[in-house]
Amino acid sequence: MSEAMETMPPVPDLLGVAQARARVIARGRTLAVERVPLAAALGRSLAVDVTAPFDVPGYANSAMDGFALRGAELPQDGERRFVLAGTRLAGDSRRAAIGPGECLRVTTGAPLPDGADTVVIKENVRLDADTVVVAAGEKAGANTRAAGEDYARGELALRAGQCLTPARLGTLASFGHTEVEVHRQPRAVLLTTGDEVVAPGEPLGYGQIYNSNRDSLSALLRAAGVTVLRHEHLRDDPAALRAALRRAAAEADLIVSSGGVSAGEADFLPRLLAEIGTVDFWKVRMKPGMPLLFGAIDAALLFALPGNPVSSIATFEVFVRPLLEVWAGRDPDARPRWYARLAVPLHKTHRRAEFQRARRECRDDGTLWVTPFGRQGSGVLRSVAEADCLVVLGEEPAELAAGAVVEILTLD
Ligand code: AMP
Ligand code: MG
Repeated sequence: MSEAMETMPPVPDLLGVAQARARVIARGRTLAVERVPLAAALGRSLAVDVTAPFDVPGYANSAMDGFALRGAELPQDGERRFVLAGTRLAGDSRRAAIGPGECLRVTTGAPLPDGADTVVIKENVRLDADTVVVAAGEKAGANTRAAGEDYARGELALRAGQCLTPARLGTLASFGHTEVEVHRQPRAVLLTTGDEVVAPGEPLGYGQIYNSNRDSLSALLRAAGVTVLRHEHLRDDPAALRAALRRAAAEADLIVSSGGVSAGEADFLPRLLAEIGTVDFWKVRMKPGMPLLFGAIDAALLFALPGNPVSSIATFEVFVRPLLEVWAGRDPDARPRWYARLAVPLHKTHRRAEFQRARRECRDDGTLWVTPFGRQGSGVLRSVAEADCLVVLGEEPAELAAGAVVEILTLD
């Protein structure tokens, strides 16, 4: 117990959220680049700009099943007959051409025959032996796709830093790529602490709680594209914590811990980080999550998040996520901001930034509304479990009327 009696590192004046966030962002560097198959690239961050290597589509083609013809020959009134000169289904590699007064049967995706610039859909024509009867009302140029109208050769198609969504993987495949250059995924070790904390599946004794942070933080990390190397649960014992931090720093880019970071008798992390690494900041003027600790051990960055489940999730959203954005080659400040109107009045008396758990709702007049939950205690996991966003309140005390516009951080 003697180690526990030693003094804590001095707490400098508490940082505001924006200052603390800027310090986190300043510590991030874009992670190295690797090539992965498209099938393994979903959700990864593109490391390079991608330009179209050729026109997509590569040739003018039909956008519908119908008859390709010359638009200038369409009737202005009444009907006109076109001689059916043949058929080209998509995939037929023979070139075709039509002469004056002719048409060609085509399916969606089939190249337009030379001489044609228009497709009349099959539902709008009448077949009469080997002629096709077209009535007035059709538009010249309709139902065709020009070469390069999707992506023109040399055109910037995707930008470095973009997240590879299913559609963007499709774009890469349409260029014939089988692999893509992405930023390597950060590797994290997750540590949870607390003598009272027991793994789900174990019997629960008096005074004990189940470890909920292990699953929620691990899921947050993995959903954000982090490889979670492993999780360790640690007792509130400085020697065990010190050894675990050193082990984690040897393998991980990122160490995320929960608990043991306040000023209680069993809160060893601030002192341990000062001893074996560097403390960048400890404590932020925010609610929930004030005792957040950030620093480094060797090359690994460490976020020691508060143990309260709500605080750990909120501090993850506000501080860990921006670092992950930097590592993925993105500007965290370019992330789109969301605003909504308060559905209920809010009364804020303290001088810390606050992140209230809330639900948003889009009304049928196109406005977004947000309802913070009544119970905002930092131990109330239900408030985050039922939330889909956090309402961001600045440091100043405020009387906010219903309808006031506030910033929100989406959680989904
Ligand atoms: P601490 O930050 O260690 O003082 O913990 C603050 C609160 O969070 C206490 O009520 C702890 O019991 C609780 N807590 C700490 N770690 C966890 C965890 N992994 N899962 C659920 N609750 C936790
Ligand atoms: Mg604890």
